[in-house]
Amino acid sequence: MSNPKYQSPKGVHDILPDDHLYFSFIKKVVRHHCRRAGFRRISTPMFENVEVFKRSIGESSDIVEKEMFLFESKSGKKFALKPEGTAGVVRAYLEHGMSNLPKPVELYYIEPHFRYNRPQKGRYRQFHQFGFEVLGESDPAIDAQVIYISHRINQDLGIADRLTLQLNTIGSQEDRKQFREDLINYYTGKERSLCEDCKRRLHENPMRLLDCKEEDCQILASMSPKLESVLSEESKKHFELLKEYLDELGVKYELNSMLVRGLDYYTHTVFEFWSKHEGSQNATGGGGRYDGLVKLMGGQDTPAIGYAAGIERTILYMKEAGIRPPNKDKVDIFVAQLGLVAKKKSLPLINKLRDHGIITVGAVGKSSMSGQMGLADKLNAKYSLILGQIEVQEGTIILRNMERGSQETVPFDGIVDKMVELLGEKKLSSKNLWEE
Ligand code: AMP
Repeated sequence: MSNPKYQSPKGVHDILPDDHLYFSFIKKVVRHHCRRAGFRRISTPMFENVEVFKRSIGESSDIVEKEMFLFESKSGKKFALKPEGTAGVVRAYLEHGMSNLPKPVELYYIEPHFRYNRPQKGRYRQFHQFGFEVLGESDPAIDAQVIYISHRINQDLGIADRLTLQLNTIGSQEDRKQFREDLINYYTGKERSLCEDCKRRLHENPMRLLDCKEEDCQILASMSPKLESVLSEESKKHFELLKEYLDELGVKYELNSMLVRGLDYYTHTVFEFWSKHEGSQNATGGGGRYDGLVKLMGGQDTPAIGYAAGIERTILYMKEAGIRPPNKDKVDIFVAQLGLVAKKKSLPLINKLRDHGIITVGAVGKSSMSGQMGLADKLNAKYSLILGQIEVQEGTIILRNMERGSQETVPFDGIVDKMVELLGEKKLSSKNLWEE
């Protein structure tokens, strides 16, 4: 419809069947990589008490300051739609005593998220992320493994060559105390050149000034003190080892001392995958270590690392690269019939074919034979099975190969087995549902 009466709200989108081919494929790749690395899936609610996000993400982050969808219950409790995944996962980890599980606890999620930001290409108000979190291990080998899995997912989606891995360390919280002072000293007296956001953030969270996208702020940031100068030996060692492990794994990276990530809870390793191609929204995903977060949320000291990527943005990059996911919706068989008796015989036939996992569409409406065959063409069905009055009387059915345009009349009994033979064993089969 060109001018519909109702439209979806600004910045939120329907996922239409063609895009679901991408969604399903991405989910499959993510599940495949996470499962084989021993990760287990978690889903947290669409909304949480607002404090969960404020406490974890940080009051001075863009997300908490201006991007949360907030609402109140009738009794006045304040909630927010979840803007990112880690806070909810950590809340659930603590609430369900997962800290008692063998370490590290490895979880993954594929969920919608909500941010009240200005919609533009690749940035929406409802979007989906897949992500993973590893809790309870501080070894940089875990950082390397998390980065490797993210990279492998990009590879299997066909977009790894279009991305660069940006890598940095932001040290420990202890290292950053000193750095914070250095930054405030450096920026003091230069406030007039800063954008409004940065002016405000200078005393709340000066590290955020380093990744501001405003040109004047970037110029100042490029000449600012560098974190390297205050990194402890331990932080340096963590980063050195991570780089060695990545080299060993053959994962290429670019060191980027300006990468700090927007959220307060990161420590040590931070990384993002950036597109090599033009565009303001160029990160497909990012992550890092958050060793202080579990404690901040009321748990014990628990090192952790995570990664999250945007599914819509991943789809955008796949489309830019000309990648089409496999079309799992392709119709195998179209069943056409004419007359009441034929229709009655075709209904169980359609369902038997479907039980074998064969994608079968049957025109069970009132359309003429030519109308039905036109539909079979439009659906690009591989085969048609045609049951008219004569075939019913003779106990036969017409099997038409739609690609070749050839057809033959075959016995009705045994047609299901014949079609299974022609189309090969199907994964969707009811028999396979319970297989491991
Ligand atoms: P972040 O948690 O902000 O680092 O986001 C991780 C990834 O999620 C980004 O790299 C994007 O791919 C995706 N993402 C974040 N915000 C949005 C948004 N508003 N719309 C679409 N994708 C987003």
